[in-house]
Amino acid sequence: MKNPKININLKKLIANTKEVVNLAAEEGIEVVGVTKSVCANLEVAKALLKGGVVGLADSRINNLAYLRENLKLDQVPLMLLRIPMLSEIEQVVKYADVSLNSELGIIRALDEFAKEYEVIHEIILMVDVGDRREGVMPDDVMQVVEEVLQLDNIKLIGLGTNLACFGGVLPSDENMKVLVELKERINNELDQKLKIISGGNSSSLPRLKERGLPPEVNQLRVGETILLGRNVINREPFPNTFQDTFLLEAEIIELKEKPAQPKGKIGQNAFGEEEIITKSGVRKRGILAVGRQDIVLKGLAPVARGVKIESASSDHLIVDLTDYRKNITVGDSLKFELNYAALLRAMTSPYVNIDII
Ligand SMILES: *Cc1c(COP(=O)(O)O)cnc(C)c1O
Repeated sequence: MKNPKININLKKLIANTKEVVNLAAEEGIEVVGVTKSVCANLEVAKALLKGGVVGLADSRINNLAYLRENLKLDQVPLMLLRIPMLSEIEQVVKYADVSLNSELGIIRALDEFAKEYEVIHEIILMVDVGDRREGVMPDDVMQVVEEVLQLDNIKLIGLGTNLACFGGVLPSDENMKVLVELKERINNELDQKLKIISGGNSSSLPRLKERGLPPEVNQLRVGETILLGRNVINREPFPNTFQDTFLLEAEIIELKEKPAQPKGKIGQNAFGEEEIITKSGVRKRGILAVGRQDIVLKGLAPVARGVKIESASSDHLIVDLTDYRKNITVGDSLKFELNYAALLRAMTSPYVNIDII
C-alpha cells in the first residue's frame, strides 16, 4: 500500500467496541457506533457491528447512503446525527432509518417525503440541556412534541441530547434529569411512551463507568472512545481499550543535518504564523511526505521515541530526529498515533491510503 497511509487494526477496534458495548449493556444501555470521523469506512463499520453496536450513525447523509448501499445488511439501523438540511430531506428519508431533529419545519418536510415514499421515518427530538449546540430548549419541548405527534409518517421514538461538543458541558445529574422529566411529562400529559433516551456521546462513558447515568438513559452514540480508546473528558486512555487502533504512516523524503535556526529575515510562514525557533546548533531533520491537507499538526504523536514533530506545511511534515537512536534513511517511514481531529482529516483526505491489518 502506498504512503501515506492509515493502518487500521480491526482486532483492536473490535476489542474496543466490545469493551464499550459490554460496559453499556451492564447498565441496560445500547450503543450506536459513530462512523463520521472515519468517513464511514466499510471495514470500520463492520468491525463496530462485530463488536456489538446496535446500529451505525453518521453526520453526513452521503456516508449513510454509502453504508446502506455497501454494507448489504438491510437490518442494520442507520441514524443521521447532524440535524438535516431542508435541501437533503429526500435522501434522509431514503437512507436514514432515524434522524436527530430540532426544527419543526424540517420534521414536517420529513413527514411529506415519508408519505411520498410510504415509509415511517423515525426521529429523536434533540433537547438542549446546556451545551448550546443543537436542540429544542426544554421549555419548548412539550409544544413541539404535540405538533410532531400530529404527523402521520413521523414516529417520535425518543428524546436525545448532545454534550461536550460546543460548550464542553459534561453530563450531570441535573442535565440528565431534564430529559428524564420531559419523557415522563410526555407520557403523562400526551400519553406517548417514548422508548429511547439517547443520553449523549463518548463524554457520557466516564459517568456510565461510575454508574452515574439515570436508569432511563438507554442509548449512547459513541465514536471517539471506541475508535481511539480515549476518555474524551481528559483524553486519558479509557480503561481496557487500545489507543493505537489507527496509525498514520508517512515516508521520509529528505533527511539531513541542518542548522536549527533559519537564516535570513523572518516573516510569516505559509499559514500566517510566525514560528519562533528556540533550538540552536545542528539538528538531524527529516521531511515526511504528508501535510496539513492530510493531518492536523497538533493531533499527531510519534510512536517511536526520539522523534519530535517540528512543523508542517500543506504537504510536508518536518521532524527532528536528532534523538532518534535507530538507523533511518530516506524511503523509510515513521508511525504516528492520531487524535480525533487528525483522524478525521486523514480519513477524509483523498491522498491518504487505508491499510487494514
Ligand atoms: C459526533 C457525534 C456523536 C459521537 O461523538 P463522540 O464524541 O465521537 O462519541 C454523537 N452524537 C452526535 C449528535 C454527534 O454529532
